[in-house]
Parts: sequence; structure tokens; C-alpha cells
Amino acid sequence: MIKRMADKFGHLGTLKVASDQSSTSSILSRQSQSTSLDSGVYRGSISTERTSVSEWSNKRGGSVSMDIVEHEPKAEEVVPQVIVRTPVRLKGSYRLADFIIQRTLGTGSFGRVHLVRSKHNLRFYAMKVLNKDKIVKTKQVEHTNNEQQMLRAVQHPFIINLWGTFQDSANLYMVMDFVPGGELFTLLRRSNRFPEPVAKFYAAEVALALNHLHSLDIIYRDLKPENILLNFDGHIKVADFGFAKACASTTWTLCGTPDYLAPEIVTQHRYNKSVDWYALGVLIFEMLSGLPPYHSPDTNHAILYEKITRGPRFIRWPAFGTHATDLILKLMEGDPSKRYGNLHHGAGDVFAHVWFREVDWDKLRNREITAPYLPKIQGDGDASAFEKYPEDNASALYGIPGLDPYGKDFPDFDYTSI
Ligand code: AMP
Repeated sequence: MIKRMADKFGHLGTLKVASDQSSTSSILSRQSQSTSLDSGVYRGSISTERTSVSEWSNKRGGSVSMDIVEHEPKAEEVVPQVIVRTPVRLKGSYRLADFIIQRTLGTGSFGRVHLVRSKHNLRFYAMKVLNKDKIVKTKQVEHTNNEQQMLRAVQHPFIINLWGTFQDSANLYMVMDFVPGGELFTLLRRSNRFPEPVAKFYAAEVALALNHLHSLDIIYRDLKPENILLNFDGHIKVADFGFAKACASTTWTLCGTPDYLAPEIVTQHRYNKSVDWYALGVLIFEMLSGLPPYHSPDTNHAILYEKITRGPRFIRWPAFGTHATDLILKLMEGDPSKRYGNLHHGAGDVFAHVWFREVDWDKLRNREITAPYLPKIQGDGDASAFEKYPEDNASALYGIPGLDPYGKDFPDFDYTSI
């Protein structure tokens, strides 16, 4: 089983890829960024094609399968139904012409995230651009629609804010708050590891964000330092809702980042929101030690998944404090029915754990606790905390009129751009 899983994930788990990856393979890296950070490589998120039905949109019924289906797209699935769309500009909606593109902040499997400036209010935003063709060919239509729907539904101080979405013939556009402090990943790799109080601060803010998502029956599924951005005031913003999904009960789609996958995902069992609490355990471990618990210099996924199923008690532990170790073990509990966050008191058990005893949760929620690290921001629109990416004139391909084979697949993105 583990070997099969590793084969499915192939070598996409830990990526050092410089360019877009638009393989039609059923395994997909959502994040294929390159980096030259001192000691780290970005870890790509992975997903098989969707096998479950979104409980959120409820747009599609039909049969579901627990099997992980791996196949190349069938001819009829990729032959587009060509529609010529007439742009409609609804009041309050956005379009490409509203923004001036400044630079690239990050790249992903389907496109890139740009720093943009509104021509109207002169404010800076992050605009994620996703290529519809790539999304369809890699069978991530439902994940992408989920991302939009989940972000629309959520408003929380520690979660990225989505202002609006639109599409043109080739691309989808998501306009979000620009979060200028860069990724927690970058800070962690630069610091090697965080002292306990620092790790505790970020873990506590993440716990509040997860609890909020779970209260809305949203499962996040891709917690890792790469997806935690730092705002100008040092507080976190959880970004990248590419795998978030409405999930009141259980689901089974294989997705996430290998180091952060809970054992029940690795063994292809149904899973629930508690996989996010498991991932919080991995995150705390990684913040305190500098590396995730099952890290090994080679990227043998069979070995990684074997270790994940055996559990954290079988690894050599760094010298963490007793309370930190206890919480990590309770979060990384292999049996979801015994896992912290998933017991009778839900997130309450996590908040009440002795490692968090000095955390004033109300103050934290209100951002009244000073963050341990203040990003050095020179002013509005300063993106120096982000890696430099080759621009490749990517934006020249945005907003070009053309046939729109896939527009119908993304009904919640306003068709405003020409
Ligand atoms: P994503 O595809 O959502 O993971 O985004 C790719 C990268 O773009 C992230 O890892 C961040 O470095 C950057 N990014 C995404 N959203 C934002 C944002 N709202 N503000 C600043 N940078 C962002």
C-alpha cells in the first residue's frame, strides 16, 4: 500500500522546479516554485484528480468513488466546447483593466501571483492568475472553484482576504490583500529554527485560523510554512486555499504536501478535518527543529509514508520542552479518534493545552499580542520580502480576446475582462 502511494506521488513531493508544470498526470504539483534559500526547497503540494463531490457547491451530484483514479484525460474531456463570451461588468466587480501589474510575487502550477496596484484607489493587491487550460487538463477544476468559494466564505484576521474574482478567455483572476511580509517558510529557513515562544505565537494564530475554518465546515488540507504569509504587523495570513473544501463529515481525496500528510491520508482511508490538526503538529515540530519530523535528505516517498504510518514515537526527537513534545504527539496522534482537536472538546483541547498556557486567546484573536518578528517593509507595495522571479512577459498574455473553451467550468468567476 505504502509503496503504491509513493509511486502515485512519484517524485513530486519535494520540488525544486523552476517553471510551470502542466503535466496531465493525475498527480499534480500545485506549487512549483524555485528557490535558492539557504537550506530549503519549497515543497510542492500534490493532488490526485478529484474523486469526491463538493458538499459546498452541491452543483454536481452523481456517483463518487473511493478509488484514487489515475488516468490521462480522455479525449472527450479535453476537447473544449467553444463559447464566445460577452463580457459583462457587474457593479462592484473587477476587471483586468482596473489594475497595473507591478511584479511577480510567486509562481504556481497554473500561473502566478502578481503584485498589482488599483488604478482607482491606488492600493496594492495580490492578484493570482490561473490558466484555465492548465486547470482543466490537470483536473483541478473543482479544487479551483472550491478555492474561490472557500475564500469568499471566510473572513478572519489570520486568513487571506479575497476581494473579487473574474475571468477572461484564457485565465482566472483572484484579487486578494497583498501580504507584504513574505512567507513564514522564508523566515524559518533563515532562522534555522524558532525559539519556543516564537513557534508558539505562530502555532496559536494558526490554531485560531484552523478553528475558524472548521467552524464553517471547511477543511484546509495544505498547512505548511510556505502557505503562511506574514502581514506588515507580523501577524499571519493563511493563504492558498487550493485544497480547501467544504467538509462537514469525511472525504478521501488524496492531496496535501507529503511531509504534512496524516497517516489516514497516506493509507487512503476516509479522513476529516482532524488532518489539519495533525498538520499543526507537524508545523510545530518543523518550527522548533527546523525540519519536519520525518525529513530525510533523500526524497524516497515510500520511506516517508512508511514513517508516517508508524508514527512520531519511532523517530529520534530533538530536545524539545516536555509540553511542546506532548502537544505535538497529541496532534500527530495516528488514530484520528484520539487526536487532539478531534475529541469531544474539539479545538478547545488544543487551546487549553499546557504548552499554550500563557496565551491570551482573546487578545491574540484581536491582534493585541505583539508579533515576535516585524517584517522590514519600506512602504506600501514593498515586495522585497519575496523572491525575485523572472517576469517572462507573462502578463502580455492576459486579457487577450479569444475563444473561451472552459469559461462554463468556472461559473463563479465574473466574466468581466476582454
Ligand atoms: P499560491 O499559489 O496561492 O500558493 O501562491 C504562490 C505564492 O505567491 C505564495 O507562496 C506567496 O509567496 C505568494 N502569494 C500568494 N498570495 C499572496 C498574497 N495575498 N500576498 C502576497 N503574496 C502572495
